Amino acid sequence: MPVAEVLSVGTELLLGQVLDTNCQFLAVELAKLGIDCFFRTTVGDNKQRIKEALQTAFNRADVVITTGGLGPTADDLTTECLAEFFQVEQVFDDQVWAHIQELFKHRNFPLPESNRKQALRPLGAQILPNPAGTAPGIIWHVSPELLKKASVANPEKDRCVLTFPGVPRELKAMWADTAFAYLLKRYTSGTMWSIELKHYGIGESALAEQYAHLLEGSNPTVAPYAGTGECRLRVTAKADTIDGAKIIAQPIVDEILAGSGQRCYGFDNDTLESVVGELLVKGGYRLSVAESCTGGLLSQRLTDIAGSSRYITLNVVSYAYEAKVGLLGVSPVTLEKYGAVSPECAEEMARGMLKLGYADIALSVTGVAGPAGGTEAKPVGLVYMALVTKDQCIPRTLQLGSKAGRSEIRFRTTNEALNMVRLFLLNNLK
Ligand code: ATP
Ligand code: MG
Repeated sequence: MPVAEVLSVGTELLLGQVLDTNCQFLAVELAKLGIDCFFRTTVGDNKQRIKEALQTAFNRADVVITTGGLGPTADDLTTECLAEFFQVEQVFDDQVWAHIQELFKHRNFPLPESNRKQALRPLGAQILPNPAGTAPGIIWHVSPELLKKASVANPEKDRCVLTFPGVPRELKAMWADTAFAYLLKRYTSGTMWSIELKHYGIGESALAEQYAHLLEGSNPTVAPYAGTGECRLRVTAKADTIDGAKIIAQPIVDEILAGSGQRCYGFDNDTLESVVGELLVKGGYRLSVAESCTGGLLSQRLTDIAGSSRYITLNVVSYAYEAKVGLLGVSPVTLEKYGAVSPECAEEMARGMLKLGYADIALSVTGVAGPAGGTEAKPVGLVYMALVTKDQCIPRTLQLGSKAGRSEIRFRTTNEALNMVRLFLLNNLK
């Protein structure tokens, strides 16, 4: 298997003005291909230092991937540095120039002379098309002679360089359209298929322990990843064809599904909110939420899903006592006696929400999001929820701890709330 190195070019990255998300994207994608990445380097827009970084990268990696510095301005140096490093001239690519001209014409912009630079490529390099912008990258298989001339270690070993612009949208489009398939074909035999099984309600280490015997496998491989309050297991199989890879992965996927039960909530791009949406549609139910400490975040997540108006008709964010009393019909006596952060208030909020008549299921959330306002009896991170239907009331208490910050407490609360609705629907759908 080859070893890759990612070289991020841009002074703005070194200054911390821009976060290097391209590097993260590439790391995840290389892992999918099974290509190891042992080093990442970040270098500013400086010719001498870019060439030094290229020297180091080619000495220790088989595939060098650069991002940034392909633009038309004087500080965009990547292509030029590669040509100089391998001591070849740059050639003007008429096809690329035609593409750039076309793009500017389409956008109705005058085409500056400086853009001609983007049609240059080192002699011997192929163009890596950019479907989303002007600057294409290159894919260059560097010959042993050039590697020798550039004093690269082990010049007889195969090397290749791929360049991408800095703009993440363009990099991703080029990766998806060309680069991924190119690397797959060149460096891995056959093809790969992977699926993520998303889990909620189990930690990464518990998940890794439960499936320890699978984590050691080689085809398919199984790897755990932790997210905020959720975990994923990725199953990846290799075969000559995609269908063949799916067949290899299936028994392991089935084993995990059986072992995880309801803790596995979905696959790949599924989210708790998308799964809840699907279940609500399936059951023909409408959901209303009454939020206090999450301030609308739960409502936002639910309505982030396109088509959510099929099952969300009214949500309420009620902070003040008056609003809880006036709108949701929470009893002033309850608030007086138990306070707003109490199981009693949570239940009355949900019942009030249901009574408004816009839903079949109502869910309420009330808690202490912090950082201030906690007491010994009701510390920061204490949250009460209630899920109410016309004949059921399910209460729930969360102790999220005072160490989690306000936004984490809010986010985790919405996770728990969505999961509560999900489990209710799974267990009550006919
Ligand atoms: P352009 O043709 O737009 O000039 P370029 O290849 O020259 O592209 P840069 O000028 O280095 O790329 O960066 C363009 C923009 O892309 C930057 O303003 C920055 O916001 C973003 N960018 C650059 N590098 C990265 C990176 N590694 N991760 C995320 N964003 C980046
Ligand atoms: Mg630039």
